[in-house]
Amino acid sequence: MSIYLDNAATTKPCAAAIDEINRGLTELYGNPSSLHSKGLQAQLAVDEARKIIAGSIGCDSRELYFTSGATESNNMAVRGTVAAYGKRKPKIITTTVEHASIRETINELEMKGFEVIRIAPRKNGEFVPQDFIEAIDEKTCLISMMLVNNENGYILPVKEVFSAVKRKFPDVITHCDCVQGFMKLNINVKELSADLISLSAHKIHGAKGVGALYIKKGTRVVPIITGGKQEKGIRSGTESVPLILGFGAAVKYMSSDITQRFGQLKELKSFLLGNIKKIDGINLNSAENASPYIVNISVCGIRSEILLHFLEEREIYVSSGSACSKGAQSGVLEQFGVSRTDADSAIRISMNASTTKDELLTFVSSLADAKQRIMSA
Ligand code: PLP
Repeated sequence: MSIYLDNAATTKPCAAAIDEINRGLTELYGNPSSLHSKGLQAQLAVDEARKIIAGSIGCDSRELYFTSGATESNNMAVRGTVAAYGKRKPKIITTTVEHASIRETINELEMKGFEVIRIAPRKNGEFVPQDFIEAIDEKTCLISMMLVNNENGYILPVKEVFSAVKRKFPDVITHCDCVQGFMKLNINVKELSADLISLSAHKIHGAKGVGALYIKKGTRVVPIITGGKQEKGIRSGTESVPLILGFGAAVKYMSSDITQRFGQLKELKSFLLGNIKKIDGINLNSAENASPYIVNISVCGIRSEILLHFLEEREIYVSSGSACSKGAQSGVLEQFGVSRTDADSAIRISMNASTTKDELLTFVSSLADAKQRIMSA
């Protein structure tokens, strides 16, 4: 039996999502833009999914736009805001720990002449609202900040930062990449003071290739994809009806018991850490109050890829802990004070509600085995 502990990379689609994807492929194959009844049926199904997803973050369904995933949502949020407001206000605030889809996009804009301020966590790994406020001025058009870090599960104080920003600079557009917090923390667009929010389906048991961007009514986002004016002209391209329906079903599946599931994951995390502690030479790279869905550790003396493949041979699947893609270093863990050596031997264990204590025990005993065999080899 394989043990899948890489849920922050992607999740197994749930049965309800697969059924809905199937329905979208076999029954609702009309183009939502077509004027006949097949098109209308598809459009109605898409709007039903939109309503479910919008409801899960407390926004109006007219404020939710489907995309091909959070990478596109993040690009759309940043590039679209900058295109709308950046001429007069060419300054962007972000953090040093964002996902590559934000980091690379903002790096590119910086090369084109935008001023970028990247806020780093303080020495104790915490972000402080004051640091953001001090960086913002009348020239700032956008602040982009993630809710949960994908490498170590750190929960950023988005609500505190955004509400402080809005109090002092109400015209600054606030964007939050909520991918790793969506359906795991209770998210409400108003409580978060967010104008833009990026979501992805495949991290919550939906399919890859679909996501959404919440755009608060009145916020201008210039489309980055032009064409047939689907999604009210904000995102052209025929909607992926099957994947959108699957997205709606996945949200429904995850909607109940967010708080209870969080508690369950917290218990799994503490069970995991309690057992890991019994092995010498393992450093924890995730704070105690981080999201319990993601645990990052460093197994001193063993490089991530070596350990990853050792575990893979035993059908245990984890990520190398500081990977941004295909094992490339992102530098994010170092931002949180992890040494370079520890970052080189970091692995990320990411769980879901179906993860069992038995699976975790098997993982920990394989970890002990790895330490013994690889270190003595
Ligand atoms: N943002 C974060 C925090 C992520 O973890 C990911 C995926 O790893 C993305 C954005 C990109 O999402 P997608 O795979 O839907 O493009």
